[in-house]
Amino acid sequence: MSGQDGCLIDDPMTLSNSPASGGALTLRFWGVRGSTPVCGPDYAEFGGCTPCLEVRCGQRLFLIDAGSGLFNCGQHHRTDLPKEIDLLFSHLHLDHVGGLPFFKPAVFDAERTINTYCGNLDGESAATALERLYAPPLFPVTLDILPCRLAHHGFKAGETLTFPDGIRVDTVLLNHPQGSVGYRFDHGGKRLCVISDVEHTDPWPSPELMDFVAGADLLVYDGMFTDCEYPACRGWGHSTWQKGVELAQAAGVKALAIIHLHPAHTDAVLRAAEAEMQAEMPTAFIARERALIDVGTIGTPRPRVVARFA
Ligand SMILES: [Zn+2]
Ligand SMILES: [Zn+2]
Repeated sequence: MSGQDGCLIDDPMTLSNSPASGGALTLRFWGVRGSTPVCGPDYAEFGGCTPCLEVRCGQRLFLIDAGSGLFNCGQHHRTDLPKEIDLLFSHLHLDHVGGLPFFKPAVFDAERTINTYCGNLDGESAATALERLYAPPLFPVTLDILPCRLAHHGFKAGETLTFPDGIRVDTVLLNHPQGSVGYRFDHGGKRLCVISDVEHTDPWPSPELMDFVAGADLLVYDGMFTDCEYPACRGWGHSTWQKGVELAQAAGVKALAIIHLHPAHTDAVLRAAEAEMQAEMPTAFIARERALIDVGTIGTPRPRVVARFA
């Protein structure tokens, strides 16, 4: 549902969240792995959960994607979450929705509403797709058995989402099978852009994407493949850290974080890639699961990691 000026306000009384007090813009990575979760000693540093990001504009919470990392997000915060949670989907591929029913204890709270926002289906919400996925025999129960209220909202990528507390989030359609949505947060003079899942285009960077991420303090970008791997995976909807650096440098982006890490890329592979990447862009890094980033802490080799296992 979309209103005038791309506003996504259904009923202001039902879409409240914590006020956006404070100027901090923070990002926490709860899941940075693409396609399928992995685990084991080779994945201890970067982590194995599929995409889930926590963005805070002051105290105001957004979640991006409900990959398997959403489980750890729920366990970490327990009941310390707003009664209304806004969950922005990049898109609905399995690695981005598979953690939704495991967002505990949040989904067991009858007083809680989880608003989902889906923008890659030409205005259609996630409701139908999630109902198809979460039903026997693929899943033992349907989501309506959960005590929390799930409210699914659809919009068209490119619209600006405006929330009742005045917070606005810009969106852009990304090149990915069935499309994907990139998000831009501006808060306290800082800019954060999350661009995944996406495949780079030729020519690159595309003017539209360059404009969207221009001047960002931090760009989070899909680096699933290496330059060597990419030719065999053309058309699969993902990109490389090299293309991320090209986009960041062309658009005056201050720092770059790579996510949607390939399940076969072990810690050793990723550390080597990170060193190579930092030779080209010293403020670029590969995202580590659970890292909490204070967006805009520029001037150090990489944005300050506030906490990891706290
Ligand atoms: Zn994905
Ligand atoms: Zn995808």
